[in-house]
Amino acid sequence: DCTIEGFDPELARAMADEARRQEDHVELIASENYASPRVMEAQGSVLTNKYAEGYPGKRYYGGCEYVDVAERLAIERVKQLFGATYANVQPHSGSQANQAVYFALLEPGDTILGMSLAHGGHLTHGARVNLSGKLFNAVQYGVNDQGFVDYDEVERLAVEHKPKMIVAGFSAYSQVMDWARFRTIADKVGAYLFVDMAHVAGLVAAGVYPSPLPHAHVVTSTTHKTLRGPRGGIIVAKDPGEEIEKKLQSIVFPGIQGGPLMHVIAAKAVAFKEALEPEFKTYQQQVVKNAQAMARTIIERGYKIVSGGTRNHLMLVDMIGKGVTGKDAEAALGKAHITVNKNAVPNDPQKPFVTSGLRIGTPAVTTRGYMEADCVELANWLCDVLDAPGDEAVIAKVRDKVEAQCRKFPVYG
Ligand code: PLP
Repeated sequence: DCTIEGFDPELARAMADEARRQEDHVELIASENYASPRVMEAQGSVLTNKYAEGYPGKRYYGGCEYVDVAERLAIERVKQLFGATYANVQPHSGSQANQAVYFALLEPGDTILGMSLAHGGHLTHGARVNLSGKLFNAVQYGVNDQGFVDYDEVERLAVEHKPKMIVAGFSAYSQVMDWARFRTIADKVGAYLFVDMAHVAGLVAAGVYPSPLPHAHVVTSTTHKTLRGPRGGIIVAKDPGEEIEKKLQSIVFPGIQGGPLMHVIAAKAVAFKEALEPEFKTYQQQVVKNAQAMARTIIERGYKIVSGGTRNHLMLVDMIGKGVTGKDAEAALGKAHITVNKNAVPNDPQKPFVTSGLRIGTPAVTTRGYMEADCVELANWLCDVLDAPGDEAVIAKVRDKVEAQCRKFPVYG
């Protein structure tokens, strides 16, 4: 039997269950989205069979003439999308794209200055448990009491520690980062400015969030969040200079990776073409409107949003003093078919595995077709559960409403 179903029913069952979960749960994890059937068609294609170490036109294997076409399409489209002059579409993930940037431009022991995980940064921005925090001397900045990046602190730390690289970008920050200000600080101390735009790449591509490319020496992203492509990473830059380009090229291959995932690169090419369509701009505008509608509702219901609102696709609900932890809220909402992730908030008294916050994002629901009114409804149900996380009757009622709403907006039809 050549089907998974016939050959491996145990796995087929898990895959079918996951497909159903994606349809009948509402997805509010800010880093997730639904790739199009075209993107998945490319990922499930024969391109997975091909070794293609090297770059288009300079491969270490024969038979690369067609995968070269796919990689060139991905490169040209991503350059157009972000106004980049340089692009590498081979990183297997966002973390590997970041690793490539560090290894290309730094030596072990060098100082980097990045946003701390506890204040909205990513693990790969210098967290102690990540190689970025083990191999490099990582100094960390955060947000002020109002929940905004504290640029004066960034400048003070930069002057004090003289980092070789400043890392901007985030996984849990709902405001606009001032890329120009970061560059000014970097220039003042002679540091590289590296921006990880993974979370907002789709918004940037659509012009609804400021682009870091005019300001950063180098920019990375994942391709699977707001950008709505396959899981993967990219490195892009605007006029980085030949030396930086050469270093980036040789660190991705052969420095840290072997054969590129040609099926994923083909899927990236499809996703970039989708992102160049006019509908993608409308989609990203709606993502932000939906996030703002949810934030307003959550605030009206008496919960605090870190920084007081959102200007992108996500928000952090601060539940300090509300009698419910992030961990318990995540579990209660899960029972109501609302999928979110617990997240530390600034000055969180709870441990990272417990937390006092929730991160909420609208890229996935907006792909399903949710508009502001749907998001207001949903935010109210979410608050019903937060108000009574131990009340099974409330949870059951919300679950019924969430399921009915999900049926109105099928993901894959
Ligand atoms: N950079 C940022 C800002 C992220 O939020 C993430 C993922 O959550 C990554 C990098 C890592 O991407 P990946 O999971 O593909 O390694």
